[in-house]
Order: sequence, then structure tokens, then C-alpha cells
Amino acid sequence: MIALGQEKCPKVSNSHFSDCADFAKKSLVFWVEFRFYDSVGFLNDLIECVGRTCAGLADKRRGMNSQFSMRDIGLAGFSPFFMQCPSFLSHQRQICEGIGHGRSNCQTLLGMERIPSDNHIRTMLDDVEPSSLYQLFDDALAAVETAGALPSLTSLDGYTLIALDGTQYFCSNKLSCRNCSTRKHASGQIDYFHTVVAASVVKPGKNWVLPLRPEFIEPQQGYDKQDCESRAARRWLALNGLRYSKLNPVYLGDDIYSKQPVCEEILAVGAHFLFVCKPDSHKTMNEYLIGVEVPSLSRKVKRGKKFFTYTWRWMLGLPIRDGKDALEVNWLEITIHDSNRKITYRNSFITDLPVDADNVEHLAAAGRARWKIENETFNTLKTKGYNLEHNFGHGKNNLSAVLATLNLIAFAIHLAAQLADKTWKAAIEVAGSRVRFFNNLRALTAYLLFPSWDSLLKTLAFQVAPPLPS
Ligand SMILES: [Zn+2]
Repeated sequence: MIALGQEKCPKVSNSHFSDCADFAKKSLVFWVEFRFYDSVGFLNDLIECVGRTCAGLADKRRGMNSQFSMRDIGLAGFSPFFMQCPSFLSHQRQICEGIGHGRSNCQTLLGMERIPSDNHIRTMLDDVEPSSLYQLFDDALAAVETAGALPSLTSLDGYTLIALDGTQYFCSNKLSCRNCSTRKHASGQIDYFHTVVAASVVKPGKNWVLPLRPEFIEPQQGYDKQDCESRAARRWLALNGLRYSKLNPVYLGDDIYSKQPVCEEILAVGAHFLFVCKPDSHKTMNEYLIGVEVPSLSRKVKRGKKFFTYTWRWMLGLPIRDGKDALEVNWLEITIHDSNRKITYRNSFITDLPVDADNVEHLAAAGRARWKIENETFNTLKTKGYNLEHNFGHGKNNLSAVLATLNLIAFAIHLAAQLADKTWKAAIEVAGSRVRFFNNLRALTAYLLFPSWDSLLKTLAFQVAPPLPS
């Protein structure tokens, strides 16, 4: 188990800074533009939202035993994810005792008063309901909207693509809590695991995703059966469908979503769907398509030095399943052949949106953007610094889900800043990549005290020297 403050930060190799000359060149390019963005109000406002929300979290303590505020406890739990450093708090305690003379980046960057112990953070967050933090996903989205960056999220002439997908973020055969799901192996061994349905705004051709409110797959009161992705997704739609209707959403999902109950839930909130639809799991629909000439469109596409043939086929008004009450949906398929006529990709989708020769290519591209939630969300959260699968602590009740939620919120705020905050964006571009940006941010904040985000981001962009210890 990795404790919140005990794991060593991943080492920052010399190569991160050996490219200083290259960074400096880039920073010169950005200097003219960047110097006008002194304020990083966007980030400060969102971090203040995190502090305010944490201040309102349920506090199980009674009487005078409130040495640390819930605001400090929540922000402390959030900070290792936001700063991309499992040992962020441990470094800040050292700064506080040393060069900071009682202050650390926890105070200056996150607005905390004091740093609670790791055990206290875990104990207190274990009884917090993850849903009491969900407002922060809306705050991140609202900040993007206020900054005028909402149009950058849209696809297909004004729709917003929201991908739904489940992922497991914890598994153990030893540790468990009351909210673990279980599976039994033939050997008798029991796995305890946690899974979440994540919802993210995606866009074809863009390498970002913006996380929205999640829904955890966990035992539900009043149900004997184990919870599952499909049920959690319908719960998500019931809870959030209307909330996100102003985005004019088209929901994307894999084959388990292309079932009548899920499609009906989506239509009921005035939204649309574009789900993967495999022939094997939609036999009735497939029977309608066998041996029938359907409209199609083909085009040669050059990718690198190679040519591929893209073929789209579609058909309108097919029953999603057997039976008189079957929902009618529109079907489309994309097939990609290489120059040897070998199929390199094939997928089919169902949607309630009209399909024709003018939009079938865009719809297929939108449907394919679903994989982004796996690549850009889960892969980033698991392997690129967010440590989603690492066990920072499991707790007895909600700790596992609360930490996963704080992790997703950190990811959402990073993405919101990347979309809408010019200062943050410029600092990443100077660093060359998000990974390198966070490596540098982690290294600098581990040893130096920054008076503000403005000062930290400008140092990251090599525009000002790091502050000297006072
Ligand atoms: Zn558990």
C-alpha cells in the first residue's frame, strides 16, 4: 500500500532539465504573448471552489476535536493528485519546517492553513460521500464556459460528444471495504474490486478529454444482485441527463450501451446516442442487413505514405431488438481496407440521429472517438501521473471512491485549465508536453516555496528565476 505521503516522488532525470536550451528557445517565442497574462485567476478560482466544497464536507467529529478543518483535510487529499506527486504533502512538511519558516506551497498555492497527517486525512475522508464532491465537475465545466471556451468542446455542428465507459480502478484479494464488488475464481479466491462509470467530453482529432460527474459501480441499497456497468450507466443518466442537456449531448458507448433501456433513457432526456453495435449481440438487426443492398460511400485516404479505402454503409429505421415494442434506430458502419484489400478496421454503430451521405463520415468519426475515454482518460489516469490504480488507502467505507473522485477532479481542472487558461497552456507548450510540465512542476514544488501560481507558472516557462529561500 502506498501511503499518501510516504512514497518517494518519481525521480526527475537529468534529461528533464538537459533540454533547457530548447525550453529557453521556446520560452522566447512565448514570452511576448505570455507576459500579458499576469493573473492566473482561472486556476485560483477553481482551487478556491475545491476548498469551499471541502469545507462543507460531512464532519464526523464531535466536540472540540477539530484541530484541522475539513477544508484542509479535503485539500490535502486532493493535492497529491493535483500536483501529480504522491509525496507532495511530505515535501511540504519539510519546506514548512525548513526554508518556508512555517509556510509551504500548501498555503500559498492551495490556500490551506495547516497540513493534517496522512492517517487523519484517510480517517476523515473515509466517511465522506463521494457525491458531495461532484459539484466540482460542474464548476470546472462552468469555468470553461465562463472563459468562452465551450465552443471548443463541440462536434458535429453543435453537439457535445459525451463518452460513457466503465473501468476498474482497484483490485485486491486481501484489502476490502463495504463498498467493494467481488468475484470468485474457480480456485475459491475472491477478488475485491472497485469500478466506476466515467463520463467525459471527447472530440474527434483532439488529444484531450474533459471528465464530468462519475457514477461508482458498487452495492446498492435494496438490491441483492451485484451492481453492474449497465445499471450504473442508467443511474448516471437518471441523475445527470437533464443537468448536461444544455450541452446538446450525443452519448457514446461500447456495445453494452446499445440496448433499448439505455437508448430510451437518453431519448427521455432529449439527448442522442451513437453506440457501438456488434452484429453478434444485435441478431434481429443483423437479419435485416443480410443480403440487402444498403446505401454506401467510399473514399481513398492517404495516411503517411500509404493509401487506405474508407467505406461507409448505412440504413435507417432498423429494430434494435426483437418484439413489437422495439425501438427503431439508424445503423452505420465504417470499414477501412489497406491497398491489399485487407480490412484494417471495421465497426458499426446505432444512433437516433439522421444518417445520410453528407454526415455518415462525421458520425463514424464521432463514434470512433469513444476509444478516447480509454486512451486519454483511463490510460492517463492509470499510467501518466494520476496513479488511479494505486492504492493510496482503502478505508472501510468510502475512502477508495473519495480518492478516485478527487483524482478525477484534479484531472478535470487540469483539462479545464488546458482548454481555457492561457497561462497554463503557454507553460505546457514551453515545457513541450504535459508529462514534462508535471515533472518540472513536481520537482520545483518539492524543494522551493512559490508565493503564487503566477510565480510558479512563470518559473516553469523559464521566464523568471525560481524564488530564493528567504
Ligand atoms: Zn473496497
